[in-house]
Amino acid sequence: MSIAVETRALTKHYGSVRALDGVDVTIRAGEYFVLLGPSGGGKTTLLRTIGGFHRPTSGQVLLHGTDVSDQPPDKRPTGMVFQAYALFPHMTVAQNVGYGLRLAKLPSDQIADKVATMLETVGLDGLGNRKPHELSGGQQQRVQLARALVLDRDILLLDEPLAALDAQLRKDMCLELKHLQEKVGITFIHVTHNQEEAMTVADRIALIADGKLVEQGSAREVYEAPNRRFTASFVGENNLLDGRITSVSGGIATVETGGGAISLPSIDTASQGAKAAVSIRSELVALSTAEDAQISGTYVESVYLGLTTSHRVALADGSQITARVVSGTGATPEPGAPVHLSWPADAARLHID
Ligand code: ADP
Ligand code: MG
Repeated sequence: MSIAVETRALTKHYGSVRALDGVDVTIRAGEYFVLLGPSGGGKTTLLRTIGGFHRPTSGQVLLHGTDVSDQPPDKRPTGMVFQAYALFPHMTVAQNVGYGLRLAKLPSDQIADKVATMLETVGLDGLGNRKPHELSGGQQQRVQLARALVLDRDILLLDEPLAALDAQLRKDMCLELKHLQEKVGITFIHVTHNQEEAMTVADRIALIADGKLVEQGSAREVYEAPNRRFTASFVGENNLLDGRITSVSGGIATVETGGGAISLPSIDTASQGAKAAVSIRSELVALSTAEDAQISGTYVESVYLGLTTSHRVALADGSQITARVVSGTGATPEPGAPVHLSWPADAARLHID
C-alpha cells in the first residue's frame, strides 16, 4: 500500500488563530478521503496546506514520501476543485477545461484530445462549445472537475465541491463524484461539513475540529463505533449523557448521569471517578416496559419526520433522550406520562475525552 499524503505535526497559525494544531494524517494512494467537521475547524486550511497554497507554521507535508513543504502548488502532484462556480464565464466549456494545458504550452491537437476524453469521463461530451451560463449547476461543477482532472495530477483536492448545489442535486452529484473517483483511480481529498455527503463518498473519514484530527475511520466505524465524544456529537443522531464513572468491574462501567445511572461496556481508559460521557444512537433507543428499562423519564412529545418519528423523553435532570422509530410503529404515550427506555447492551458507548 503506498501513501499519497502524510502530514507530520502540521501547525498553521494566522496571527493568534491556531487553525491547525499538530495534525498527523496519512492518506493512502487511490483512496477517497474526507475531511469532515464543523465550520472553522481547520479543514480548508489543512487542504490548502497540502496543496501548497499555505505555508505551514511548523510541521511537514509529504506527498508520495517527498517533503514538499517548500514547493509551490504547481510543482506539487495536486489539483484543486473549488466551490462552484469558479469558471471563466467568457470561455467555452472546452476552453475552460483546456486552460491549464494551454498554460503548460501543450500542442493544441493534444489539448483537444485530452479535453474531449475528459469531457466524456465526466459525462459532458457534446457540451464543449457551450458557455458556463448555458449549463446547470451540476454540469458547471463537472466542468470544474474536468478542468482539474485533465492536468493528470494524482491527488485531487476538493473544498466543499457541492456546497453551492441544491439538496437533490447535491445527492446525485455526490454519488457521481464517488463513481468518478473509482473510474479515474487517483486520490481524492474532499472537505465537507455535511455528514451524509461524507458518508456517501468516503473510503475513510477524518473528523477535524479545533485544528485537530479528532478521529478517523470508515463511514461505518465513525457512525457505529465513535470513540470520541465529539465524533458521537457530530456524526449521526446520538443521545449524549455526561457524568462520572462510579464503578468499573468485569468489563462493565457504571456512569452516574443527571438522568440516572447507566451501565455499559467499559473501555481501557475508564477508571472510577473519571468524567465520562455516554452516547447512544437515537435509532437504537426504544420505549420499553419498566422491567426492561435502562433508564426512565417523562414523555415530552413526538416529532413526525416522515420515514421516522422521534419520541422525546425528559430525564430526572431535565435533559432529554430521543428514541427514533419507524413512523407508524408502536404507541405514542401522552405528554407527561412516565415512560421507560431500553437499548441493546452494546448500543451505549463510553467516552473519556
Ligand atoms: P473550515 O474550513 O473547517 O471551516 P478554516 O480552515 O477555513 O476552517 O478556518 C480555520 C480557522 O482559521 C478559523 O478560525 C478561521 O476563522 C481561521 N482562518 C482561516 N483563514 C484565515 C485567514 N486567511 N486569516 C485569518 N484567519 C483565518
Ligand atoms: Mg472551509
